Formats: sequence, structure tokens, C-alpha cells
Amino acid sequence: MSAPEVDAEVNAMEKRAPIRILSDSFAARIAAGEVIERPASVVKELVENALDAGATRVDVEVSDGGRSGIAVIDNGHGIGAGEIELAFSRFATSKITDDSDLAGISTLGFRGEALPSIASVSIVEIVSRSSGEESGTRLLFEYGEIRVREGVGVPVGTTVRVRELFSNVPARRRFLSSAGGELTRVNSVVASYALARPDVALKLTADGAVRFATSGSGAVRDAVTAVYGAEAGKSMIDLPETPPGSLQGGGSAISASGVVSAPSFSRGNRNYITLSVNGRWIRSRRISFAVEQAFHGFLPERRFPMAVVEITAPPGDMDVNVHPTKAEVKFLREQAVFGAVQKAVRSALLEHAPVAPARRFDSPRPAVGPVSQTSGAAGGLNPLWPDPLAGSPLAAAGAGDGRPGPVAPPEAGPGPAPGEQAAGRETLTPRRALPVLRLLGQAHETYLIAEGPDGIYLIDQHAAHERVLFEEISARYADSSSESQQLLVPDTVELQPSQEEALEQHSDELAALGFLIEPFGPHTVVLRAVPRVLKDRSPGESLAAILDAAAEEDGVAGWQEKMLATLACHASVTAGRKMETDEARELLRQLELTRLPHTCPHGRPTMIHMSEGSLEREFKRR
Ligand code: ADP
Ligand code: MG
Repeated sequence: MSAPEVDAEVNAMEKRAPIRILSDSFAARIAAGEVIERPASVVKELVENALDAGATRVDVEVSDGGRSGIAVIDNGHGIGAGEIELAFSRFATSKITDDSDLAGISTLGFRGEALPSIASVSIVEIVSRSSGEESGTRLLFEYGEIRVREGVGVPVGTTVRVRELFSNVPARRRFLSSAGGELTRVNSVVASYALARPDVALKLTADGAVRFATSGSGAVRDAVTAVYGAEAGKSMIDLPETPPGSLQGGGSAISASGVVSAPSFSRGNRNYITLSVNGRWIRSRRISFAVEQAFHGFLPERRFPMAVVEITAPPGDMDVNVHPTKAEVKFLREQAVFGAVQKAVRSALLEHAPVAPARRFDSPRPAVGPVSQTSGAAGGLNPLWPDPLAGSPLAAAGAGDGRPGPVAPPEAGPGPAPGEQAAGRETLTPRRALPVLRLLGQAHETYLIAEGPDGIYLIDQHAAHERVLFEEISARYADSSSESQQLLVPDTVELQPSQEEALEQHSDELAALGFLIEPFGPHTVVLRAVPRVLKDRSPGESLAAILDAAAEEDGVAGWQEKMLATLACHASVTAGRKMETDEARELLRQLELTRLPHTCPHGRPTMIHMSEGSLEREFKRR
């Protein structure tokens, strides 16, 4: 315990206000309520108290997931011998007073409820020594009644031990999950604070085994490594530094910093997105969604990023007094926060996976428009080019400065070879422009096998073709040069009501894409011409699919992007079809020329890369 003692000396400087009981009328304005539901809620309250006390080191220990015991040990400024009992009275707090402005709270706690609530449903021992005192005090409470009070020699700081939780409230005890279930929740609380406060060394020990321990270095990446492992830590990319005041929505600055996982490292659920505001860990579906949305097009469907996003906002800009557990906050300018987060994540991703330089398809077909990086509307990309956020209603709504649109990409350099990025991993999808690939063959009539300068590539023929067609169709659509093909035998298509509605709404865009559609009978249309890429496919089905895509308002991707992606999907070579060598070679060549060769328009990977290094490792050649 020597390190905490040294830290405690530093904290001795911490300013400590006296604990006082709030007046009834003031307490009535606080969103009070039962905050202790389970071991994880005890842990949350005690960790918050430790952080509010300026601790630089907080150890959390649980046994049986907290069902049989919880201890939180901190090196904060402690509680004075004269106040320690008072801390266990309802509405006793040192953090606000009757004159405080509830809109500007900067401490994690403020209601003076946690300690009395915990003490009333368990056996609690508290040992604390305040920074100004020679020795500490130990109190023991049994279900709210004080049993022991004595002086003890301890370092500055506070230790709270809780056992027999809810043993006097059997109904609530029955609602607890198994030890494993409770431990998962405890883990999530401690991990969230470890990530939200990388400047504090947090440690979680369960049944004697350390689950994780952060160093308190202040670097989010270090905290991610400690909590989620080395591979996760390495995969993180930094959100760009935002100059203060640059992301403001009229008032004072709101900014976002932190780290997000590179697209090559994704998760199966959204539990790995951690948000904090001014050092307070919060939950917000909407802000989490801003993170997920920024990843749109970078991750396959149903894959989620890992992220630790720290939002800085003026304290007066949010209301933490909306929910007893304080896990949810209300932002005065939620749109500005949404926009700041989304922009920061998006620009980090674009910077990490820079857009390949402008290229043309130099095939015999008329060249499609080059992707100019300077001619786009928002100082960057062509708005119809697959920056999926550009023009989407949410992007527009979310942008803090009301200016939607992609962040201008940096100059796309040659970038490291895929093999360099693959260091230490078995397989991954490389991130930048593709090298020239040499076709080796086809497997399962679904995958192309190719060799590049560094290793072997397995390419999903359908996904790859989708990508190629998507870019081609998008470019033509953008400069109004879509090609249409007359059908020898017009196709009649019966439409569902939602499809009819979508058709009515989007007939101009469909015509621009190359569809010639005429009314035929009730709920039926006749297709006379279709986009040329659809030539020998079943055009009626494709139209129906496009109309379905238009009808489903998920608000994530713009309708035009969905229309183009659906068309590309229907026009692409399917899996399970044998490809002739020439045809497969041509597909590889065209894929090399695409702007985002590594994913299909729906975000699924088009290829898997096995670097030479990883092959050598697999075969134990080194
Ligand atoms: P709140 O955190 O809302 O003020 P609590 O019941 O959690 O209410 O704590 C009551 C008071 O006890 C706090 O205001 C603080 O002064 C003191 N306190 C609680 N835990 C600690 C701790 N770990 N270190 C120092 N002081 C603490
Ligand atoms: Mg508290």
C-alpha cells in the first residue's frame, strides 16, 4: 500500500467541503429514488464517491458477484472523524448545498442518498481517514443501526465494505441473478469508469482474481488495453483533436475525444461503446447511435465498434438530475452533442482508411466520372459517392454546425502494405488500395483465390462484383449518364401497397437510373426498359427489391444509396456460379480500381487477406 499513500499526499491538497443535510424543500427537488437494486448499483455509488473524493487509485473487490461481499478502497481525501456518521444520514452531502444550482453539478454524486440506502439493506463497515487527520475512524452499521465506532490507524482514504446485501429484504434478494450474472454487471460498471476516467487507476478483483487493473496513466488507449486486452488496445484509433470552440452549436464549446476501434476490429453487440461527459460515465442510446452511424459503411451489418468517447460540455449544458441512478443525462443541445460525436468518429475513420486517389475504369465502356476530391459539394467527396452519411437526414440533423457532409479526406498516400498492418494477426481485411492481384482460381463457385505481393487473397465474387457495379452505377447516376436497356419482352410487375407508394414518391430517380415504368392495371406496372446492368437478370424482382428498400425508412442510409446498392446487388454475379478465367480476372482488375475495394456497399467484406507472414506463422516456418 505504499503507492496509494504517496498518492494520498497529493490528494491532501484536495479541497473538502463539510457534510450538511439538505433542507426538505431542496431535497424534494432532487430526482431521488431507490438507487440500490443490486451489487452493481452499490459498486457504482461507492466508486463515484471515491472519484468525487479525488482518489487516484480505486480498488473494487467482490465475492460471488457481490452477492456475499463488496469492498471499495480509495485513496481520496477521506471523511473526517466528526462527520463520518453524518454521511450516513439521508440527504447528507458535502457536494451541494441548499444554494446550489442543480444545473451546474460537476460532482458524480449530489443527493446524499447512497450511503444511507446501502446501510439500510446490508452490513456496512466504513474505515476512513481524512487528509487533515492523524488517524482514522471505523464504523460498523447493521441494517442502518450503528454497532461499532472506534479509532484506527490507516492511511488517508476510505474503505467501504458491504456484506449481507438485502438479507433483511428477502424479496429483493430473490431478484438477484446468479453470481456470474451479477459479476457481469459489476464488471461493466467498473470497466465503464476505468474507461471514462483513464487518469485513475481502477482495479477489479473478483473472488480473489484480478479481472483488470488500469494504470491511471491518463491515456484512454492504456485503459482499453487493460480492460479489453492488448489486441483491442492496438486496434484503437484516436479521435481527432478538436480545437476548442470549433464544434460549437451557437453557445459554448462541445467537443468529443477518445478512441474508436479500427474497422478491422469489430464486436457482435453494442455493449462496447462507452460514453462519458465531463468524466461522468453515461448511457445514451442516441449518442451511442451517433457512434454506430459514423461507422456506417465501414462495418458489416450487425457488427459494432468498440469506442470510448469522452464528451466535454459546459456543465450548465446538461441536466444530471433526471434519473435517480444518474446514468442518464439530459443535454440542452443534444443535436450538437450528436453532431460533435458523429463528426469526430467519422473523421477519425476517414483519416485512418483514406480514400484511394481518383481513378477511371479504363475499360472499353465510356469512362465513368472520376471521383474528384475537390469538386464535391462539401469540400470533399462527390455527395452521391458512397460516403453514406452525406445527405442522409440524420447526418444533416446531427451535424452540430448544421453543415452536413463528409470530412475532407487527407491526401491518400501509398500507405503501408497490407502485410505491415496485418502484423500480429492471422487474417484481416486490408484497409487501403488493393495491390495488383493474380488470379489463381475459383473455389466453391463462390470465392476467387488470388495472389498479391504479400500473401493470398480470398475474394467473395458476389460482394466484389457488387462493389464494382455500385461504384459504376453511382458514378453514372451522379452525372446523369445512366444507361437504359429496352426489354424485348416487357415485364409486368405486381406491386404491394408500400411499393406503389415508394414508386410514386421516387419515380423521377428510378427513371434517371434507367427504369421505364408504365401503369398497367390495378396494382400492376409494366417495365419496358431497365438499367443496362440488369440486362439478363429478372428486372421485375429487382424493381420490387428497390421499392422495398425505399419503403423501409430506417433513416441510416440515404434512399439513393440504398437504391444504388440494391440495384448493384441484383445485377451482380451470384455466389454458386462458375466464373470463366477471363471473367474472374476482369472482376479482380475492376475491383482493384474501385474506391473502397474492401467492402461491398452493404459493408460486408469483399475479401480476406492472409499475409505471407501469417502463412509462415501458421506453417511454423518461423
Ligand atoms: P453523495 O455522494 O450524493 O453526496 P453519499 O451518500 O454517497 O452522497 O455520500 C455522502 C457524503 O459522504 C458525501 O457527500 C461525501 O462527503 C462523503 N463520502 C462518501 N464516500 C466518500 C469517500 N469514499 N471519500 C470521501 N468522502 C466520502
Ligand atoms: Mg455518492
